[in-house]
Amino acid sequence: MSFLIGPMQKHLNGHKELTAHNEILHVAPQAKVYIPLAMGNAKIDVLVKEGDLVKVGTQVAARNDHFYVPIFASVSGKVLGIEKRMGQNLRPTDHLVIESDGNMEKAEGLSTLSNDADSEAIIAFMKEKGLVGCGGAGFPTYVKYQTDKCETLIINAVECEPYITADAQTIERHKDDLRRGVLAMFKASKAKKCLIGIKETKKELIPQLVELFKDQSDVTVTPVKDVYPMGWERTLLYTLVHKRYDKLPIEVGCIVSNATTAVMLGIAMETGMPIVEKVVTVSGDAVKDPHNVICPVGTPFSELVKTCGGYTTEVVDLIAGGPMMGSAVTKDEVCVGLASNAVTVLEHHDVKEIACLRCGKCIDHCPSGLEPVNINNAFKANDIDRLEKLRPMDCIECGMCSYICPSKIAVTEGIRRAKRAMALRVKR
Ligand code: SF4
Ligand code: SF4
Repeated sequence: MSFLIGPMQKHLNGHKELTAHNEILHVAPQAKVYIPLAMGNAKIDVLVKEGDLVKVGTQVAARNDHFYVPIFASVSGKVLGIEKRMGQNLRPTDHLVIESDGNMEKAEGLSTLSNDADSEAIIAFMKEKGLVGCGGAGFPTYVKYQTDKCETLIINAVECEPYITADAQTIERHKDDLRRGVLAMFKASKAKKCLIGIKETKKELIPQLVELFKDQSDVTVTPVKDVYPMGWERTLLYTLVHKRYDKLPIEVGCIVSNATTAVMLGIAMETGMPIVEKVVTVSGDAVKDPHNVICPVGTPFSELVKTCGGYTTEVVDLIAGGPMMGSAVTKDEVCVGLASNAVTVLEHHDVKEIACLRCGKCIDHCPSGLEPVNINNAFKANDIDRLEKLRPMDCIECGMCSYICPSKIAVTEGIRRAKRAMALRVKR
């Protein structure tokens, strides 16, 4: 593999000042929430029916294929049924509709976990609480920890995407939960050391984290450069332990978990509550009053934007996630899911693409060491043999090639198409 042979020196304008120091706003209670019943292509079994009464934290559904992931109600109220709405994947997706009674009554008997729990108990607890990666991937956390091969646990607090500050604000508000979650993950991993990666520009937060873990000699807060995509787990792992892997970090003795995921584990251990609410950054140049907001899972994006003063203009580009790695959505009816961390709202500009200048900038800046322009050309020419040699499947869809292209070519989108073609091995 040849990941990370790109220069990795690109500092992006983060626009983080738009939300970093603002208070977190609460989205007004909604009459209904729409819990997404989707995890990739996995089948989801619904455990409740129309008319059932649920409370915050009641299990309502489960992913039941090779991974088990329970899904929970985020409000108390009555189940109205299942409705198809646009999902973050732009496909019509089943959502469980719950009519809120406005009380936010918590389910009884939610199990908690002691700080003294052993590795097996912590992993079982992660599974029971449906803990998934909150860095955007949404992968079931317990699955990563079912190993005896971990030497280094990496906690990813980098948050390198422009505009997004949800992780940083979550960490700041929940330091005790972060500590509890990180130490539990460390024990669950059976690793020898734990590294917390955070951007060196977080001048205020770094000493706070150092103080938080000062009694833990094997937990080290490690500042990293403010370059994009430092928060990508391959990049961070390479930066911290100088190793490359093929498919999974455990191949080189590492587990990587996002800092907000650790906070969510810490909260669940203390209160028993699974992930039922999210802090989401609502930012960009086309939202009136950018802020981080807190809302129940299943709240439509439209309500998040309304909480932040609404749109500044009629035609906007709406992105689930950040502008580099997020996915453009065409309707603000899309709802907050377990892994949602941002809604980016940008002014729409008709981009006039011009012919490729052959400047090679996309090649120079690709962190995966790929040749984006050549992948696109091979794809357009339907030259599958050449495409295979150019390794489009190694693309992490970081968006850098489109960002850097002076001809405004949507290079990343071309690579995505090439990846789909390679996955299907279908000649066009
Ligand atoms: S999106 Fe472009 S720059 Fe990023 S990894 Fe893929 S090919 Fe490289
Ligand atoms: S950056 Fe754009 S213009 Fe330059 S080689 Fe790549 S695709 Fe062509």
